[in-house]
Amino acid sequence: MNIQLIHVFDIKQLTLLFLCVFFTFCSDQKPKEKGEIAVRHETKLEQGPNFTQRKITDNLYVIKSNNYHTNVGVFIGTKEIILIDPMTGSNNHQALLEKIKEFSNKPIKYIINTHGHEDHTGANSFFAALGATIISQENIKYTSAKYGVTFKDKYTFDLENERIELYHITSHTFDDVLIYFTTNNTIFMGDTYMTNFFPHFYFGGGSKGHIDFIDKALSLGNENTVIVAGHGKLSSDKTELNTYRKNSIQWIERIKELSFAGKTSDEITQDDEIKQLALAFSGNNTVHVQTIEKTISVDYNSSTPLPESAKNYEGMYQYKNGEVDELIFRDKKLMLRRKGAYIFELSTLSDTKFHIKGQVPYRYISFSNDGKELTYFNGKESQIAKRK
Ligand SMILES: [Zn+2]
Repeated sequence: MNIQLIHVFDIKQLTLLFLCVFFTFCSDQKPKEKGEIAVRHETKLEQGPNFTQRKITDNLYVIKSNNYHTNVGVFIGTKEIILIDPMTGSNNHQALLEKIKEFSNKPIKYIINTHGHEDHTGANSFFAALGATIISQENIKYTSAKYGVTFKDKYTFDLENERIELYHITSHTFDDVLIYFTTNNTIFMGDTYMTNFFPHFYFGGGSKGHIDFIDKALSLGNENTVIVAGHGKLSSDKTELNTYRKNSIQWIERIKELSFAGKTSDEITQDDEIKQLALAFSGNNTVHVQTIEKTISVDYNSSTPLPESAKNYEGMYQYKNGEVDELIFRDKKLMLRRKGAYIFELSTLSDTKFHIKGQVPYRYISFSNDGKELTYFNGKESQIAKRK
């Protein structure tokens, strides 16, 4: 197999592996033990043959397929329906459409994605074909998701019976969107908040982005604001989100402390405090070693600032198979990105070598020949791209 193919294959493999690991570790079916907090909205839970649903208000519902564990929002406007995060699984799409028709026969006019991961965007194409416009943050271009209208920092919908505010903060990914239904007093947080999984900020903003996003959510609405996580319970609240924030900080600090003390990721998974926090996050005290490795990789891999020369690496780099990676220097960050595929932040290893944050096994890019050549090392093999 040629090296270029391995590169692409490897990204797809990793995505698949992530999804497998993710769904192995954040299944809804797991019994919750300690660390569980009472949910105010539990009484509204209804179990149907294909979907579980919760009525948030008369015109806002959260539903979840019984065989796919993404929380999907359904908003019924005066003229239209807006969907949040229609999940994947082509055999689920028709069932999802039929479920929505139980609420209303109005046209599904918009889809809003909290981020580009397939388990939140898999039905984008299906609903776009039925006439829906997809709204996403602009960095969704660097994922495989279908998109339509994009925005950078903030986007507002003024509907007859609702005003919806969208805010972008890099956290779980580089295209995270916080969706705030101001009249219905509900916030959708996507995977920046999961009630059945560990804090997951390796694909985006690291621990700072994670806390920034939570703080944005806590700053909106009031004490009765309903919080909808990307996975887990169909609805949550600010009391739970505050606990999650506190646990997240403890988790981040403890991993940092143990990592700086020279403990390996394996050893960190066995730490009592880490296990206790894992129980609160996931209902299970088992911590996968990659969860720790990725947390270290995104946050604590290097504290060296970017070199002065970082900006000089900006440009397009073409591999032998024609695929192109782009290096950009923006907001004091050096980023590697490819349309339809990925976007990563880089951390400094030396003036010419940069770690790809959050990516394990250990990945890096390096520059040679006066920046005219880029070498991508995927943890196993290298491939070379030439500057265009
Ligand atoms: Zn995600």
